[in-house]
Amino acid sequence: MSERTVISLQEVAQQTEERWRDRALCCQTDPEAFFPEQGGSTRAAERVCMRCEVRSECLGYALAHDERFGVWGGLSERARRGLQRGIA
Ligand code: SF4
Repeated sequence: MSERTVISLQEVAQQTEERWRDRALCCQTDPEAFFPEQGGSTRAAERVCMRCEVRSECLGYALAHDERFGVWGGLSERARRGLQRGIA
């Protein structure tokens, strides 16, 4: 087996991550809607997320990386905190 065919789990994870990002619906919309000012509405972003085919991958990434800001996987920061409190 050549060195070239051996890839680490970290590389596989990174490639998988890059693949879902390529299909992210938010890349085709206004990115500012996903990171509103404090107290701003997240509804526009959440509506986009509901139609996104990689919503579960996105939410999983945000939870795994403890993303504190913005809408990920259709959930606001507050909603993700609530979800994590429910899990923990
Ligand atoms: S779920 Fe929402 S934030 Fe995540 S990739 Fe899709 S559109 Fe973007």
